[in-house]
Formats: sequence, C-alpha cells, structure tokens
Amino acid sequence: MADFFYYDAVFKCCKQPYRIYAGSESFQALKENKQAPIVCDDCSDRIRFEAIMNFMHGARG
Ligand SMILES: [Zn+2]
Repeated sequence: MADFFYYDAVFKCCKQPYRIYAGSESFQALKENKQAPIVCDDCSDRIRFEAIMNFMHGARG
C-alpha cells in the first residue's frame, strides 16, 4: 500500500532533520548497510577542508 515511503533521519553533524525517500540512493544504502548518511553536503565539504588544514598544520609541526 505504502509505495511512497520515507525514513526520517537527522544529520549527526548539525542536527538537521532530513528525509530519505524510498528508491533513493541513501535509502538503498540504509536498507543494505543499515547506515544512513550522517553528514550533510555542507558539513562534508567543511570537514574535508578542515582535515586538509589540520594535515597541513600537522605536517608543519
Ligand atoms: Zn551538517
């Protein structure tokens, strides 16, 4: 009956609520691995940038 199914989730990074809709890539991942994406695109970019900055600072000593 419920063709249009979604799963409510919250991004761990910024506590932003979001929905994973059936048929989407994220929903498939959730079904197979029981793990939804926990970082949104914005935070993902920021985290990557910070990781690079940390690496550069670390390399310098
Ligand atoms: Zn976020």
